[in-house]
Amino acid sequence: MSNPAIPLNDAPSQVRDLVVIGAGPAGMAAALAAQRRGLDVLLLDEQPQVGGQIYRSITQTDAQRERILGADYVYGKSLADQVRASGLTHWAGASVWQIDPDKTVHVLRNDRTTRIETKSLVIATGAMERPFPVPGWTLPGVMTAGAGQILLKNAAVVPQVPVVLAGCGPLLYLLAAQYLRAGVEIRAVLDTSAGTDWRLAIRHASSLLAGWGYVRKGLGLLREIKSAGIPFFKDVGGLRIEGEDAVRQVRFTSAGHSQQIDCELVLLHQGVVPNTQVSWSLRAEHHWDDEQLCWLPVLDSWGQTSLPGIYIAGDGAGIGGALVAEMQGALAGIGVANSLGFGTSEDGAQQRAQIAQHLRIRPFLNQQYRPKDEFRIPADEVVVCRCEEVTAGAIREQVQLGCVGPNQTKSFSRCGMGPCQGRQCGLTVTEIIAKEANLPPQEVGYYRIRPPLKSLSLAQLAAGV
Ligand SMILES: Cc1cc2nc3c(=O)[nH]c(=O)nc-3n(C[C@H](O)[C@H](O)[C@H](O)COP(=O)(O)OP(=O)(O)OC[C@H]3O[C@@H](n4cnc5c(N)ncnc54)[C@H](O)[C@@H]3O)c2cc1C
Repeated sequence: MSNPAIPLNDAPSQVRDLVVIGAGPAGMAAALAAQRRGLDVLLLDEQPQVGGQIYRSITQTDAQRERILGADYVYGKSLADQVRASGLTHWAGASVWQIDPDKTVHVLRNDRTTRIETKSLVIATGAMERPFPVPGWTLPGVMTAGAGQILLKNAAVVPQVPVVLAGCGPLLYLLAAQYLRAGVEIRAVLDTSAGTDWRLAIRHASSLLAGWGYVRKGLGLLREIKSAGIPFFKDVGGLRIEGEDAVRQVRFTSAGHSQQIDCELVLLHQGVVPNTQVSWSLRAEHHWDDEQLCWLPVLDSWGQTSLPGIYIAGDGAGIGGALVAEMQGALAGIGVANSLGFGTSEDGAQQRAQIAQHLRIRPFLNQQYRPKDEFRIPADEVVVCRCEEVTAGAIREQVQLGCVGPNQTKSFSRCGMGPCQGRQCGLTVTEIIAKEANLPPQEVGYYRIRPPLKSLSLAQLAAGV
């Protein structure tokens, strides 16, 4: 199926050896590796500075924010410094809204569209938070933990009212610890993970030992939260956020007991998943991963997709964390240099060995923080598509009428057609249909993603150069 392009009046203004989309650890490392081997590289990101999610605003931070955000954040300075010292061309505030099959990249920057031709492409667009569709998740006063952290990193903004953190995964505990250091009052942490199944942990014993550094960090965060005396509820189920026009309370069960907490602000988080919008829009091959419960692009050993010359590095290739993202970025940069005949033909073996070593902890983490079915495949009443206000029940009805894929439910209900382009509901819709139709997610598939990947106005489109 070809990718329908939006007609444009803009003319190609740049031709590059490599365009890297995303200036997080993966994108920075890919651009640096390729540039050091002599390629003409353009590094693009919609954010105003390099850093990506983990090192967001790293070039503008101060000592107090560094203390709050911690050593893993500060590490990003060295990467940002290397980018600055390298003289790499970096376009900040550049949002990629379309990529053509011939790799032409369409960018919105300074309210104008620009077209860039390139011989190769590294997509390093990272991860996004997994949807957390529970009753009340659309109420004012509910945000994601990632959004809370973005406000902290970008603008040193923290909640002024007591906050309830709910969900699971390292980022939730990290934010709790960062909020504590910033003096935020945390009313409770509601941990939705099922707790450690020690039989499974033993099965992953070698993964645990190999990744002991990561485990130690995680335990340190939990210690920090618990020693601050924050109420910590384990094995949370039946989570509901309630209020007429804004959050007033949360109800849940913990270890079988019903609980209720009054609050005005709830931050939800149940892990991150690859942001695959760009690779889907290109019609690259993907497969459903039952361990990470998400779509992963099919890649070769350099990170090249099923489309020649188009690579993916970092969390967009599968969740591995920031250090793995950096290593994968370097590997993709070397792969591109090799393929274009720059430098010596390095085999990438050293990078692959390091990546494999860091990924050994993942089977344990995937198991430990696997989001429960009830928080991924919600009850009928729960809104799934926030943009078009489509409920899980409506999707199920459509399956009963014969819809067996997200593109059919989209036609029936506009589910996935709003401004977020299905990012907030895509995984949930695939899983609801799979369960209702008794099909594997791989067979159900995903939305057919079309441009524009990011919103732009007709005036911006018309202002193309
Ligand atoms: C909200 C959030 C917060 C996180 N915070 C942490 C943390 O504090 N600590 C931690 O260990 N891990 C954190 N993670 C996980 C984390 O993202 C990584 O492991 C790491 O940042 C991945 O690096 P990356 O280079 O693959 O992607 P990222 O760092 O996510 O970088 C991707 C970049 O691509 C850009 N981009 C995406 N789409 C486009 C487009 N269409 N046009 C132009 N630019 C685009 C984004 O602006 C972003 O800067 C966070 C994840 C999320 C979603």
